[in-house]
Amino acid sequence: MNDAYQQMSLLYELSLSITKSDDPATTAGNFIRKLLSRKNLNYGAIWLLENQEEKYLTFRQLYSMPHFDHESRIRAGVYKEYFGHNRYGTGTYSLFESNERRGYYAYIKLGELGLIELYSRSHPDKLKPEVVYPMADVADQLALSIKSSLRYRRLQEEIAEREKAEQLLKAQEEKYHRIIENIRLGLIEVDNDNIILHANQSFLDLLGWSLPEILGKNAKELFLDDKAQKKMERQTQRRLEGKSGSYEIALTDKNGNEKWVVISGAPNYNKEGQRIGSIGIHLDISHQKRLAEEFAFKEAQLENFFGESLDALITIDKHGNILQWNPQAEKTFGFDREEVIGKALHETIIPHNYRSAHQKGMKNFFDTGEGPVLNNRIEITALDKSGREFPIELTVFHIKHAEEHFFTAFLRDISELKESRENMVKALEKQKELNTLKSQFISMTSHELRTPLTTIRTDVELVNYQLENMPELDRKRLRNNLSRIDTSADRLHQLINNILLIGQMDTHKVPFAPVDTDIEELLKKKILTQHPTIKYQVEGDPYRLDIDHKLFTHIMENLVQNAYKYSADRQEPELTLQFGEAGVKLMVKDHGIGIPERDQKRLFETFYRASNVGNVQGSGLGLAIVKEFVKLHGGFITFSSKESIGTIFTVHFPIKPVK
Ligand code: ATP
Ligand code: MG
Repeated sequence: MNDAYQQMSLLYELSLSITKSDDPATTAGNFIRKLLSRKNLNYGAIWLLENQEEKYLTFRQLYSMPHFDHESRIRAGVYKEYFGHNRYGTGTYSLFESNERRGYYAYIKLGELGLIELYSRSHPDKLKPEVVYPMADVADQLALSIKSSLRYRRLQEEIAEREKAEQLLKAQEEKYHRIIENIRLGLIEVDNDNIILHANQSFLDLLGWSLPEILGKNAKELFLDDKAQKKMERQTQRRLEGKSGSYEIALTDKNGNEKWVVISGAPNYNKEGQRIGSIGIHLDISHQKRLAEEFAFKEAQLENFFGESLDALITIDKHGNILQWNPQAEKTFGFDREEVIGKALHETIIPHNYRSAHQKGMKNFFDTGEGPVLNNRIEITALDKSGREFPIELTVFHIKHAEEHFFTAFLRDISELKESRENMVKALEKQKELNTLKSQFISMTSHELRTPLTTIRTDVELVNYQLENMPELDRKRLRNNLSRIDTSADRLHQLINNILLIGQMDTHKVPFAPVDTDIEELLKKKILTQHPTIKYQVEGDPYRLDIDHKLFTHIMENLVQNAYKYSADRQEPELTLQFGEAGVKLMVKDHGIGIPERDQKRLFETFYRASNVGNVQGSGLGLAIVKEFVKLHGGFITFSSKESIGTIFTVHFPIKPVK
């Protein structure tokens, strides 16, 4: 009775312990703890059947006290043997293999869920079937309770999972919504009649509308002009056929301005798969379009500039191959565009002797990044198709584009320019020369003409004075006066003569009339008689030459006069006439003041006089005339001189004058 009472109260307690929790592990825990404490058991566990295969059953531990394995496998046959007929079983050894615990076990079947495992080491009696049998009802109840809390837990898990999925979906929806609203692509949704259902902010910003202003309106009528509508119709047709695609079109914004976009359109379907409209994504390409237009304009401008340029324009790549060749280049170099495009520049317009320098220059640029030709205006020689070499003016620019090097040259034929420049320089020099001549002439005339004139006037006055005031004439003085007048008049005559001759020479109007002449005879008659003190000698076998007597006399007279003039009070000058194989040489040698070396170079220039002439009178015209007259005979004049020692002038007359 006592036992029965105890049994009753245990069952009652156990049933209490299993009704309270929704958590199967807590329920199992309450139950096992209560059972172990009341029955003095060493171990209790609840195993749930997790997997049922043909040979093995897998159990997962729901709760055990003390705590042991969580999972175990037993053979299906063993399980059947234990629980084939009974709701519970007892045994000496564990169904679940355990080496640590060897003692007495009882197993109670937990409905279809699994089983309760109980173990006692010290009181085998307590595990007799009578002990555990009355618990079968409680076990059923426990199974029910665990089952429902398992179901409850699964339900909760399912709910949590669904909630999670819903949240994820919502988050994703929000994400896409945000993307759509904030994306820099304009998005618009229309129905099958093009009625606007939605538009994102970018779309509204693009065209300047607000959402309420456009909702429910016809997208086509609102945003497209006639031209664009036609284009759009073709695209709509494609949408109707269920095709998506993208195309460029000009939309009209709220202010009537054109906005270029690329539209990517796609049909829109409802859940049932019916087409309910379409979605268009708009990429604003106004900026690109503007750039493209600007680029095209610049390109055209450049093309125009290239074609119309007065300079030849040539572009080459880094290998020196010709890429561009404008019409002016065709004119300048004679090569048609088609003939030279792709050819190496150095094989076309660079003269042969500059070709290697050109190639070296290119190489040097790529090695060092420097080139003296670049960005500077230079003058070089070019070659045209006909082989003519001519001067050009050239500027080369280096352009680097997309890692490629290009060189563009502006070239201009400057042959004419150069010629006229040279002519101008020449004319300028001539002008300068004339100016100096003029000023030299003025200073010379004022001095050289005035001196003899003054002398004449003074002597005339002195003669007059004598005639009027002297009772007796001093003949010697009178003769002196008259001789001075005569010399000065001579001097004036000679000077004026020389000036006239220089004038004639400048205009090439000197009369030249050579005749077959015995030079010795002419010399004696015209020179030696005037200058009897000169030491004269003849060398070689005499022969006759064609000579202009007047010019010859002028030549020799000047040279002999100079020899006397510039060697006053010294040894007499010498005159040698030499007949040679090539022609006649006439040498006038003096022992006078000589000609300083620094003056020798300019001696034959008109009006030029050496720095050592002192008071000796002269105009500096004599030698200039002599040189010209000798030249008219086909000959030439040389001299050698040493200051303070003397001078030799040699005139060469050729046998056969070369004209
Ligand atoms: P003119 O026109 O009267 O002959 P000029 O004798 O000075 O004047 P040139 O005969 O042309 O002129 O000679 C030019 C200059 O050469 C002279 O002024 C003089 O300085 C120098 N010269 C010419 N002959 C001699 C000479 N035999 N010895 C030294 N100097 C000379
Ligand atoms: Mg002279």
